[in-house]
Amino acid sequence: MASNDPPVDSINPFASPESMVQSHRGKHGDFQISEKKIMGGKSIVLPLLCVTCGEVVREEDELAARVKKKLTWVHPATMLLILLAWPLFLVVALLTQKRCIATYSICSSCCRKRRQLWYWIGLLLAVIVGMVALAIWLETPWPLIGLLIALLALIVI
Ligand SMILES: [Zn+2]
Repeated sequence: MASNDPPVDSINPFASPESMVQSHRGKHGDFQISEKKIMGGKSIVLPLLCVTCGEVVREEDELAARVKKKLTWVHPATMLLILLAWPLFLVVALLTQKRCIATYSICSSCCRKRRQLWYWIGLLLAVIVGMVALAIWLETPWPLIGLLIALLALIVI
């Protein structure tokens, strides 16, 4: 009769006990999803799925983007220090912040939508600057109506 137990000679009686707690610091790029949050170590490499819509991103898709972004996290309780003294907050935040490099994908249709959004934001900012310059140049407040419309459009986007 065969037994699955290891032989008594191979057990190290001085070995540290195995932990039941799983560490977030796994292999390079590993991550875990816990309560709708992605948790990992210094580096997280997400699979080839769009982070916006969840669509599968093919590596050969030239319009899709593989983004490598440096993220920082400060404990929310640290934000209370802003109320006391913001220089103290800056020091504590710089000393206690956690950093991570996350690599994720954005599909081609979401990239297109993002490019269009930046195009409209740039256009509206140009209109705002133009209206302010026109109001200063003509010394009349009427171009400020266009400025308000552009600001409203910027808020709506
Ligand atoms: Zn997408």
